[in-house]
Amino acid sequence: MTAVSLIRNARHWRTGRPFELAFAGDTILAAGTDLVASGALARAAAAGAPAAADPLPGAIDVIDVIDAGGALLAPGLVDPHVHLRQPGQSGKETIASGTRAAAAGGFTSVLCMPNTDPVVDTPAWVEWVLARAREAGRCRVHPIAALTLGQRGGQLAELVALREAGAAAFSDDGRPVESAGMMRRALEYAAFAGLPIVCHEEDMTLRGDGQMNEGPVATRLGIPGIPSAAESVMVRRDVELVELTGGRAHFAHLSCAESLAALRDGKRRGLAVTGETCPHYWTLTDAAVGEGDTNAKMNPPLRSEYHRRAVIEAIADGTIDCFATDHAPHRAIDKDRPFDQAPFGIVGLETALALTLTHLVEPGHIDRARAIELWTEAPRRVFGLPPAELAPGFPADLVLIRPEAEWTVAPEQFHSKARNTPFAGFRLKGAVLATICAGRVTHAHPDLAPRGHRSAAALVEAAG
Ligand SMILES: [Zn+2]
Repeated sequence: MTAVSLIRNARHWRTGRPFELAFAGDTILAAGTDLVASGALARAAAAGAPAAADPLPGAIDVIDVIDAGGALLAPGLVDPHVHLRQPGQSGKETIASGTRAAAAGGFTSVLCMPNTDPVVDTPAWVEWVLARAREAGRCRVHPIAALTLGQRGGQLAELVALREAGAAAFSDDGRPVESAGMMRRALEYAAFAGLPIVCHEEDMTLRGDGQMNEGPVATRLGIPGIPSAAESVMVRRDVELVELTGGRAHFAHLSCAESLAALRDGKRRGLAVTGETCPHYWTLTDAAVGEGDTNAKMNPPLRSEYHRRAVIEAIADGTIDCFATDHAPHRAIDKDRPFDQAPFGIVGLETALALTLTHLVEPGHIDRARAIELWTEAPRRVFGLPPAELAPGFPADLVLIRPEAEWTVAPEQFHSKARNTPFAGFRLKGAVLATICAGRVTHAHPDLAPRGHRSAAALVEAAG
């Protein structure tokens, strides 16, 4: 006998057509239309779930029915750039709270950055993060390990051993690899280890003591500026180093036109370069800093309307390979300081999908299926994660999305420990109804219809 969960009354994320999906354990059993009445579900259950542990052929015993109420069903979202803050900074966020926020945002997998305290630069720390995630996590967690010891840029970490321990990529994120010679060796060694380097691109001599985008807003506020070239000269450099080494670079949180031009150029030359951008770069400009709002302070900074439009263009023309949040939680006490003393970073997991649907899909920059793809298949491809399809045999990593639902961002309701968002009070369209990871409901919106347990026979009768 097999216990099965059945999602009814959903629509397929690509086509918008009516769709049903059944899963048993952590694996999708059947997908299509009319699974019960057509007998497809019974046949699938009899054959056993392809990858389920100890599948028992025979009758379906229990059916747990989830009524999607017409919501879109998609593979669970993937965020390739989050800061879960553990080990060492659990005042800001924990693996438990950060993955709760991820589940609330529709994510079933996240890649987490190693700039913690201590830095995740040894196999033991990679294993520690994985163990904590197994124990406390609400989604799959793929640790990104440090590229250099202590992220100090002086000595390469043991990249092969880190990969063996479970690292998904390497990065000194939070800071750049300043030495071009070190980046050359890192690209060669990472290519040997078979994983990409995630590049936080920032020339520290151009950044100086800059705190926000260099331009009229910074001038008016008297805040030191960061020119876009601080990012783009490093993207240019690393495109050249990828050519020199045959390595693989993924450019994190791209924010400006010149960086995107460099990435576009690298792709035209056939190099193994990819890039991500974040919802704040297509939604906001440095005007959001207002009179010095530290919740609009992040690195790289919000830029001008010219750069915002360039980001949207690069998303539309395929230069951007995937989206990421750069979820960077901070305590209120740290953000509640003068602008030049507050830390960089904003949270993003719980607003990402709605900002995508509201500010990219609604204005017609990309269609809805492409927008969802940039949060699902695209990051999986970039980081070589197993594919997730709405088909039998694939993991039951799923999200139900109500694209029409409108809501107002209320940071006090975030599942993250942190509240540092520039989107408080924003009216957004598109809400997560439920998230399911490995067959477990990890988030359910209060609007989700109560779930009922029915026998297969009763369902067939009701359908007939
Ligand atoms: Zn970064």
